[in-house]
Amino acid sequence: MYVQMNPTATSSNIDRVCALAASYQLKAQRTQRSGCNAIILLGSVEPQAVVRFRQLEGVNDVVEVNTPYRLAGRQVQPDATNVCVGDVVIGGNEPVIIAGPCSVENEASMIDTAVRLAELGADLLRGGAYKPRTSPYAFQGMGRTGLDILEKARQQSGLGIVTEAVSVEVFDDVERAADIVQIGARNMQNFALLDRAGRASKPILLKRHMSAKLDELLLAAEYILSAGNPNVILCERGIRTFDSHSRFTLDINIIPVLKQETHLPVIVDPSHAAGRRDIVIPLARAALAAGADGLIVEVHPDPDNALCDGAQSLTIEQFESLMTDVKFATSDKLFAGVVD
Ligand code: PEP
Ligand code: MN
Repeated sequence: MYVQMNPTATSSNIDRVCALAASYQLKAQRTQRSGCNAIILLGSVEPQAVVRFRQLEGVNDVVEVNTPYRLAGRQVQPDATNVCVGDVVIGGNEPVIIAGPCSVENEASMIDTAVRLAELGADLLRGGAYKPRTSPYAFQGMGRTGLDILEKARQQSGLGIVTEAVSVEVFDDVERAADIVQIGARNMQNFALLDRAGRASKPILLKRHMSAKLDELLLAAEYILSAGNPNVILCERGIRTFDSHSRFTLDINIIPVLKQETHLPVIVDPSHAAGRRDIVIPLARAALAAGADGLIVEVHPDPDNALCDGAQSLTIEQFESLMTDVKFATSDKLFAGVVD
């Protein structure tokens, strides 16, 4: 439910709405809607309360929200959210490209790769210092040392850092080092972690669990938004289906549906969906054609010897070719098949 204020409502009118919300134990979040102030009420609102809100001075209307994701849905906020990291705008007019290795492996390679990716036009750098691995015997990431390396890579390349927080315990360290904190697919419903992300000062990249439905993804985002962090980016990264020709199946359908349902930016990870580098570029092109606000792709200078996810990592040369496609996509030529 949200309370729509009149254009002439004063700040003391708004304060009175918030005070009434508090008296009903409702959390009130201020926002803008149709150029006017609005107050979103979080919690269950009794019918008598609706009447009292309606009677307050400066109130235009009290509107029922029909979706369970009140803050993530377009009903309360029709305008797209732009998440900004320095000069990079995610959810704006240009697709944003996040690129880098699956994990930080060593300082020299991370810095070299970062500088190369920046030269080729990447907007942000990815790399996991903490890795959620299926097997406890697999490489788990370099941890804090990895975060220090990422900070050096930012200094050298100028690229902002996207890196994963795998638990509440490591969140403070990751938040300090990162420009965007990633929550991985396997942690999409780690509610304690989502709550911590909601209290973070940095934007959150929330990846869809491989078995999550659209409303489960949006309700996971809702945990972060309702805890106070408005800067959430959603990421489709492939779901489990019956076939095994690829690691997962990229759910292209969800891109336009998410764009209808939510104002949050939606990016796509073709690398984890594919699990094999030969189909990453076509999937990336398909994602942009379907309306994704950007891509997160794994790139490694020597993928065959990568410590993690080498099979799906693009070479630097392949990334260069992907960037050429992205430039065509933004000039509207790629998908019309018109290449001069
Ligand atoms: C990753 O981005 O390296 C990763 C582990 O992704 P996901 O959580 O989507 O599997
Ligand atoms: Mn990976």
